[in-house]
Amino acid sequence: MLDRSISDRLNILADAAKYDASCASSGTSKRNSRDGRGLGSTEGMGICHAYAPDGRCISLLKLLLTNHCIFDCHYCVNRKSSNVVRAKFTPREVVDLTLAFYRRNYIEGLFLSSGIIRSSDHTMEQLVEVARSLREDHQFRGYIHLKTIPEADPELQRQAGLWADRVSINVELPTSAGLERLAPDKKAPQIEGSMGSIRSAIEEAGDARKRFRNAPRFAPAGQSTQMIVGADGASDAQIVGKASTLYTSYALRRVYYSAFSPIPDASAVLPLKRPPLIREHRLYQSDWLMRFYGFAPHEVQQATDESGMLPLDIDPKLAWALRFRERFPVDLNRAPREMLLRVPGLGTKAVGAILAARRHRTLRLEDLARLTRSIAKLRPFVVTADWRPTQLLERADLRARLAPPAQQMELFA
Ligand code: SF4
Repeated sequence: MLDRSISDRLNILADAAKYDASCASSGTSKRNSRDGRGLGSTEGMGICHAYAPDGRCISLLKLLLTNHCIFDCHYCVNRKSSNVVRAKFTPREVVDLTLAFYRRNYIEGLFLSSGIIRSSDHTMEQLVEVARSLREDHQFRGYIHLKTIPEADPELQRQAGLWADRVSINVELPTSAGLERLAPDKKAPQIEGSMGSIRSAIEEAGDARKRFRNAPRFAPAGQSTQMIVGADGASDAQIVGKASTLYTSYALRRVYYSAFSPIPDASAVLPLKRPPLIREHRLYQSDWLMRFYGFAPHEVQQATDESGMLPLDIDPKLAWALRFRERFPVDLNRAPREMLLRVPGLGTKAVGAILAARRHRTLRLEDLARLTRSIAKLRPFVVTADWRPTQLLERADLRARLAPPAQQMELFA
């Protein structure tokens, strides 16, 4: 196994890491310039983009330490029973790669995860060693995100938080039943117990640093998690409920959603078809409604249909507004911020601009047109000095008028 070159192993282990969405990166089509024409490539492995706590977009070397694993999670390409090519780095090799990429200015940090080799403790020790060596031996000041293993010794998880900026534990599936069926080696109480310990350690370190400037930091960029969508039949309402519980119970910075995609050599218990990617997008929109728009989880769930699914053709905020039409129209010159944030098509920036502008003048429809991309979506829901919808809100075909035109379905999706 160690006979493979570093470059071959980098290809294998960076490719294996791409299924983890909790360091958010964006997908694009494959292009390269190997034919000598053009410049650049979208095929290079291992570099993804994530957002630092201060909002900067940073490039990370995104790797698995190894894709060997003694666990057999059905949805995972690296599971024990999968037939993929395996590879492994030593901690020293990951440290050297990180430093080499950093010195060439390719990256600003490292995202490191791993399959489980030998035991959870053994694997966690190696992950911690990478972060320790980068920080202590090489004075590495860049960003480090470590995926922690909930089954590992709590002391090792604590050490991970001392060296890393962010730590994360994947909750994997929204329901305990789904986890039991698809990840038989993992236990929901253990995963959430570890998240609870990390939350306590983050808060204790925060308190200590308020009192003593030199108290050690612990995961200053917080903790995050990932949920796989579409592998276990959980509805969007269940996923939204689970995400909200995770945010409140463990003070997570982010819950990432990863639409399940059929993997090479897939297990027979998995669905044959991936969920539409737009479902993942709708869940991110619902996540934003809870985090930035003041929606309670039950209100987002009110936007789902009778089977608990968010509509795919319109966003959840519009779906909610159409269901609760009696709350509209909203007077843009008088309504409080919380109500302005409920208006479909008005983002947080536009709401801020409305609040600022109306201190100086009475807003008209043309003012709104300058702040938003499309006024058509807003008209039924707002009142301005020169506009009040009369019959629009009662129209039976309002949803059809506001939904974007249907698109040709992918033939081979
Ligand atoms: S523990 Fe499960 S999800 Fe993680 S690498 Fe192993 S098989 Fe994959």
